[in-house]
Amino acid sequence: MHNEPLYQGKAKTLYQTSQPDELIVVFRDDITAFNGEKHDILKDKGRFNAAASAFFMELLAGHGIVTHFIRMDDTITMRVKHLSMIPLEIIIRNRAAGSMVRRYPISEGTIFEFPIITIDYKDDIRGDPMMNDDIICGLGILTPDELSQIKETTRRINTILIDFFAGYGISLIDFKLEFGRCKGVIILGDEISMDSMRLWDTKTGESLDKDVYRQDKGDVITTYQKLLTRILPEIS
Ligand code: 5GP
Repeated sequence: MHNEPLYQGKAKTLYQTSQPDELIVVFRDDITAFNGEKHDILKDKGRFNAAASAFFMELLAGHGIVTHFIRMDDTITMRVKHLSMIPLEIIIRNRAAGSMVRRYPISEGTIFEFPIITIDYKDDIRGDPMMNDDIICGLGILTPDELSQIKETTRRINTILIDFFAGYGISLIDFKLEFGRCKGVIILGDEISMDSMRLWDTKTGESLDKDVYRQDKGDVITTYQKLLTRILPEIS
């Protein structure tokens, strides 16, 4: 159905198209954690994440955020603008969880007065080391202006998503974004899905995201379906 993959990630495969400035992303049913140490193939996982990602990219576009999303070709196949990806994971945190709690003396769930941005270098072999502004600019990954622009866009996206989830009784704990360059402009790429966000039910504190898989807290596909039934009933 497609040509040879251009790139195969842990959960998505990228293909070239006949248009040089467009790629196809296929969301597979693979789910991984701990740098690929834990791996499963779970039916519907690709479809659920593709639908969520398409929805959030369109939501953001409606707020004036430029993204790589063009359209869905089918339920797992997304057509996107071809970006030259910046090898950074931009993470914004509203409450302490995950690596924040493992690395620093702060208890899980603590609300940050101002959302905290942390940035990791995407490098499986080096274990995605945490960066700082000087390292990012010193290594020539971004200029200081580009870094400021990415942080500002990330904070805007955070505000939009916090408001969206609040309407459904869900707290946005943290999430990860990736950006890339398209004709000299930096725009949002990759995905926004249950794999890349932490979402807690505001009343019960129940996890509605990939932590269910990471921490063996239950059936992650049931969790993803429950979340989508809540926020996007038409696709669950
Ligand atoms: P942490 O640094 O606590 O492990 O992750 C913070 C947030 O970023 C979580 O919402 C997590 O899902 C997301 N995140 C961090 N690294 C990755 C990654 O390599 N892949 C994905 N999909 N999400 C990530």
